[in-house]
Amino acid sequence: MAVIIDGNKIAQDIRNEVRQSALELKERKGIIPGLAVVLVGEDPASQVYVGRKAKACAEVGFLSREYKLPADTSEEKLLSIIRKLNDDKLIHGILVQLPLPKHISTEKIIAAIDPRKDVDGFHPYNVGGLVTGSPLFVPCTPQGIMELIVRTGIELKGKEAVVVGRSNIVGKPIALLLLAQHATVTICHSRTKDLPAVIRRADILIAAVGKEHMIKADMVKDGVIVIDVGVNRLKNGKLAGDVAFDEVAAKASFITPVPGGVGPMTIAMLMKNTLNAATMKV
Ligand code: NDP
Repeated sequence: MAVIIDGNKIAQDIRNEVRQSALELKERKGIIPGLAVVLVGEDPASQVYVGRKAKACAEVGFLSREYKLPADTSEEKLLSIIRKLNDDKLIHGILVQLPLPKHISTEKIIAAIDPRKDVDGFHPYNVGGLVTGSPLFVPCTPQGIMELIVRTGIELKGKEAVVVGRSNIVGKPIALLLLAQHATVTICHSRTKDLPAVIRRADILIAAVGKEHMIKADMVKDGVIVIDVGVNRLKNGKLAGDVAFDEVAAKASFITPVPGGVGPMTIAMLMKNTLNAATMKV
């Protein structure tokens, strides 16, 4: 039976560390890390995420500012808010909650954020930095996955890592981070031939698809390390991952649950990135 990696506990440890560092930064330099979160429209899930980010900021002693804009906000208006935040000395991190309404170009908006305040790590400057190995910021979910791996004491050097999913926010960045730690990385997607055969090679498997319980026990090898990024809402209202947890846990050496695995790490890493942004200014 696998060791279950406790993302709630690790995320809490990180938030405690960030709170302590923020306190020291305030005492030493008089700087309070500030995060601005911009939400356009009324998507219910986005509203929940924005609320959680404000709560996390309060917990670690950051300044947090929310900009809740109507769904018909023009691209130009949003750009002008970002430009102001870029120049705002009290704000160290800017996060634009995605998805944006269709009439606004996500690429244009992300590119307008000062890369030194791009705590989501989505700006092309930081994406390029991730490829070459020197980003200012790494996207929060993949960075959170790496923290889970490191703090669990898992060695990546020489391991076969299989990433299922190739999105810009999870699949591609996590593949690059694993590669940087000397894993041998394979990225799978919806056109991969014989997915089970590829997954069976994995010493470490990252599932980031968004299909409940698609990875079954007969698709993994004994002793596999499983990181399940998927968040799927079941008909009964509960959350489930991409991995059939009970049967895969019986074969794995380590596994993350859903909920309580990768999920809590994302906001913890957002706090860490905002702290780093504030520290960079020193
Ligand atoms: P996307 O929908 O952007 O990407 C899904 C990926 O899965 C695509 O690359 C797609 O391939 C691939 N895929 C789809 N079907 C299959 C299949 N049958 N076999 C193999 N690959 C397949 O999703 P995200 O990366 O944004 O998110 C993935 C999951 O992670 C979701 O459940 C999401 O909710 C969750 N998530 C959780 C977070 C957290 O815990 N904090 C944060 C972000 C995401 P193709 O490219 O060919 O279409």
